[in-house]
Amino acid sequence: MKVSQLDGIGAKRAKSLWDAGIFSIDDLLAHYPRDYDDRSNVKTIRELTTDAVNTIRGVVTTPAENSMVRRKNTSMLNITRLTITDHTGSLDLIWFNQPYLANTFKPDWEYIFTGKVKATFDGKLQMQPTEYEPCGKLELTGGRIVPIYTTPKQFTQKTFRAFIHQALEKWNGCEEPLPASYREKYDLMDKKAAVVNIHFPESNQMFLNARRRLVFEELFFMQRALFSVKDSIISQPGVRFESTELADFLGQLPFALTSPQANVLEEIKADVTGGGRMNRLIQGDVGSGKTAVAMAAAYMAMQNGYQVALMAPTDVLANQHFGQCSQVFGALGIETVLLTGNLGAKSRRESLEKIKNGQASMITGTHALFQEGVEYHNLGLVITDEQHRFGVEQRLRLAQKASIHPHTLVMTATPIPRTLGLVLYGDLDVSIIDQLPPGRQPIETYCVNTAYRQRLQAFIQKEATAGRQAYIICPAIEEAEETSETERAKREIQNVMNYTEQLSAALPDVKITYLHGKMKPKDKQQTMDSFKAGEIQAIVSTTVIEVGVNVPNATLMIIENAERFGLSQLHQLRGRVGRGSQKSYCVLVTDGKAKVTKARMKAMVDTSDGFMLAELDLKLRGAGDFFGTRQHGLPNFTIANLYRDMEVLKQAQAAAVESLPMAAAEEKSLNAHLQHVLATTRSSVM
Ligand code: ADP
Ligand code: MG
Repeated sequence: MKVSQLDGIGAKRAKSLWDAGIFSIDDLLAHYPRDYDDRSNVKTIRELTTDAVNTIRGVVTTPAENSMVRRKNTSMLNITRLTITDHTGSLDLIWFNQPYLANTFKPDWEYIFTGKVKATFDGKLQMQPTEYEPCGKLELTGGRIVPIYTTPKQFTQKTFRAFIHQALEKWNGCEEPLPASYREKYDLMDKKAAVVNIHFPESNQMFLNARRRLVFEELFFMQRALFSVKDSIISQPGVRFESTELADFLGQLPFALTSPQANVLEEIKADVTGGGRMNRLIQGDVGSGKTAVAMAAAYMAMQNGYQVALMAPTDVLANQHFGQCSQVFGALGIETVLLTGNLGAKSRRESLEKIKNGQASMITGTHALFQEGVEYHNLGLVITDEQHRFGVEQRLRLAQKASIHPHTLVMTATPIPRTLGLVLYGDLDVSIIDQLPPGRQPIETYCVNTAYRQRLQAFIQKEATAGRQAYIICPAIEEAEETSETERAKREIQNVMNYTEQLSAALPDVKITYLHGKMKPKDKQQTMDSFKAGEIQAIVSTTVIEVGVNVPNATLMIIENAERFGLSQLHQLRGRVGRGSQKSYCVLVTDGKAKVTKARMKAMVDTSDGFMLAELDLKLRGAGDFFGTRQHGLPNFTIANLYRDMEVLKQAQAAAVESLPMAAAEEKSLNAHLQHVLATTRSSVM
C-alpha cells in the first residue's frame, strides 16, 4: 500500500515523504521514533508539578479569550487564555501569538493537554501547552508513551504521529522474517507486535521487548549476511600453492618465530594449499611481529610464481615495508618495488613496468596499488596492513585487480573485542598473535599533569644524552585561531609547531623536529628516515606516527592532551616504543579531571594488554571509537546501537551461527530477507 493512499496525504506531503525515501506504508512504519515522551501519567490539577512538563485532562469552562499586550521592545504580543477544570480544581492555560486557538476549544468539552506548568507571581499555576487534543477514542498526544520522530518537511510531530497511527490501522502486517524456533529460543515478540509497540508502546516493558526484537532482527541478519559473504569468498576456487618451503626465508630473519607467529603461519599454509581462497585476518598487538608472518606468506606465494601486493595506509609505513622487503627478499634474489601516489613520474613508470612484466614479485605501496593503470602479473596474494584504516570496499577492489582470485591476508593491531570483530571482520577468518617476541621489557607508563613539563624536558634530555630517542605526540598541528570563547579553550590543546619551537628553545643540545599529516610525503619520509638513522633525537608529531612505525632505538613516548585519545589509540601510540632491548617509557600528560579520564589513564598505567584496553574503551567511551571515524565500511543500522546493544549482539551472533529447525515456508522467508539485507548491505558497504 502506498503512502499516498493514507487520508490527508496530498501532493505536497507525498513529495516530502518520497524525498525522505518513504514510499509505502511499510517504509513509513520502518521510520522508527527517534525518542519517546512518557506522558502516560496523566495528572489531576491538584497533582501538578511546577516547572515541569505535565499531561492533564480538563473540561473547558468558558470560551478562550485573546488579548494584546505591548512588550518591552514595543512589539505587540497576543495572549490566548483558557480555563479548564477537573474534579480537583481549575487551571489557566495560555498560548502566545496563536490567536486562532481561541476558536479551537469548545466549552464543556474535555481535552488532554501537555505542557510546562509554572507558578505565576500571585502563586497560581499556569500551563503553556505544547500539544492538546479532544479526549475521546483516539488520544495520541497524551495518556500514553508518545513517540517523537525525525519528521519530514510538511509534518509536525502531531501530524506525523497521526499518520503513523493511521498507517498502523490500515496495515495488514508483514512477513515474519524470524522463524518461530528462533523467536522462542531467544524470547522475541513477533514482528507485527514489535512494529506496533515501537511506535505506540503499550507500556515501558512492551517498548523494551519491541526494541529488543527489532534490534535482534537487524543484527542477526547483518551477521548472517557477513557470514554468507565469507562463505561465498572462501568457496571460490583459489590459487593452490604447491610448495610451502620457508627455510631460505627464515634463514634471513635475525630471529626465530614466536610460537603464535609459527601457528598463524600454519593456518595460512592450510589456507593456501587447500584449493580454496584464503581470506584471513591477523590480529596482533602492536609489536607482536605481524610483518614477519606476512612476509613469510609473501615468500610462499613468490616461490610458487605469484606476485604479492602489500598495501599500507600511509606513505611512511609503505616505505618501511619497502625497506624491510628489499633487504630480506633482495638477499634471496627477489625484486621489490614501491608504488605510492607520490612517486616521481619516472619512478612511477619504472615501478608500473616492473609490476606489469613481472620483474618485481614483491610490490609494496599505499592505495595507489589498486588505482587505474596498475597491471599485475599473476597476482596471487594481497596483503593489507593496519586493516582498521581501510574499508571492506578497498580490500575488495584490490582483490578484484587480479584476473584470478588472489588470497587475501589482512593485518590489524587494533585489538577489538570479539563481538565487534565479528561485525567488522565477519567476512574473514581470524588468526591471533597473542604474545610479544621475547626480550621485550614492559613499557613503564606514567600519567602526569602539565606542571611536570620541565621534568619531562629533562627526561627527553636524559634519553637523548644516553643515545636514545623520543616521540612527543600533540593532538593539533598548529595553534587554532581564536574566534570565540570555545576556540580560546583550544589554546590548551598542544600543537606540534609551537611545541617544537618551545622544546627546541628549552633543549638546545637535542636535535628536534616535527612531523604531521599536512607535510609533503617526501618531507615526511625524509624526517622519518633521519629519525630512523638516529640523526634526530626527538620528534614532535601528530598521530601520523601511530601506524606501524618501527624504530627500536626510540624509548620515550610522551602524549600531550592524552585525554583526547581513545585507549586503543593511546595503546597503539605507546607501542611505538619498547621495540628494542632498552627500557622504554610512556608518559601521558593531561590536566583532565573528569572521572572517565582518570579511569582511562589508570587503565593505561595498569595494563599493557591491548585486548583488555579495547574492552574497557568500549565500556568507557562507547562503540563510537571503534565504529566512528576510524572505522569505515560498516553497515548503517536503523535501530541497533552497538554500544547499547552489546548483549543482544552476542545473542544475535550466537543465533546466526546456530541452525535451529524451521518450517519450509519460514526458511523461504528467512532467505528472502537475507537476500534483501545482502543487497542493501552490499550497496552501502561494498
Ligand atoms: P607489528 O605486529 O606491530 O606490525 P612488527 O612486525 O613491526 O610488529 O614487529 C615489531 C618488531 O619485532 C620488529 O622490529 C621485528 O623485527 C621484531 N620481531 C618480529 N618477530 C620477532 C621474533 N619472533 N623475535 C624477535 N623479534 C621479532
Ligand atoms: Mg605492523
